[in-house]
Amino acid sequence: MSKIIFETVEVPGYSGRAVFAKKGDHIRVTDVEGKQIGDVFALSTADHSEFLSASVTRATIWKLFPEVGECFYSTLRRPILTFVEDSSPGVHDMLFAPCDLPLFQTLGCTDYHPNCRDNYLKASAEIGIQHRVVPDPVNIFENTPPRSDGKLIAGPMPTKPGDHVVFRAEMDLVFVLTACSCDIGMNDINGGKSTPLRIEVLRG
Ligand SMILES: [Zn+2]
Repeated sequence: MSKIIFETVEVPGYSGRAVFAKKGDHIRVTDVEGKQIGDVFALSTADHSEFLSASVTRATIWKLFPEVGECFYSTLRRPILTFVEDSSPGVHDMLFAPCDLPLFQTLGCTDYHPNCRDNYLKASAEIGIQHRVVPDPVNIFENTPPRSDGKLIAGPMPTKPGDHVVFRAEMDLVFVLTACSCDIGMNDINGGKSTPLRIEVLRG
């Protein structure tokens, strides 16, 4: 049976949103205007202290990022999301922490600058998550691959308007997405400004 769009949530640039998904739901994330990084977080609805872990995922699949058909794993090494579709150029990151205010201060910002850490905490708090740990995210559409000498480089953002990825929820979970706020500091990061992403929960 094909799935239908159960819920659509627009994530404006420089912000974050959270949605609930049930086991078996598909979650589609679309880069509306292109060149936009999305920081993905997922937490078990039953126990917010179990959440998607970038490090456990790397250690389980023995690579830096899952391929389509493979899973992301939780802090308890259980599958939490499966990567089921990718219409983008397939460039993603699972090494970088979310951007935060101290980062922007080191880049010369003297006023407040929106950031993925604060946006994650705000979006998760709005749906009642009390867990204050900010997990390492899955950074979809982020082009920061390692070189052979181990250094990380920042390449141009490759996604076009409408590029998307799809995940399947492997447990009832809270899916949190931030439209990365970085607009300075790296080569063409986010095309120089943070732009919207769209979350669609597909059910049926
Ligand atoms: Zn960010």
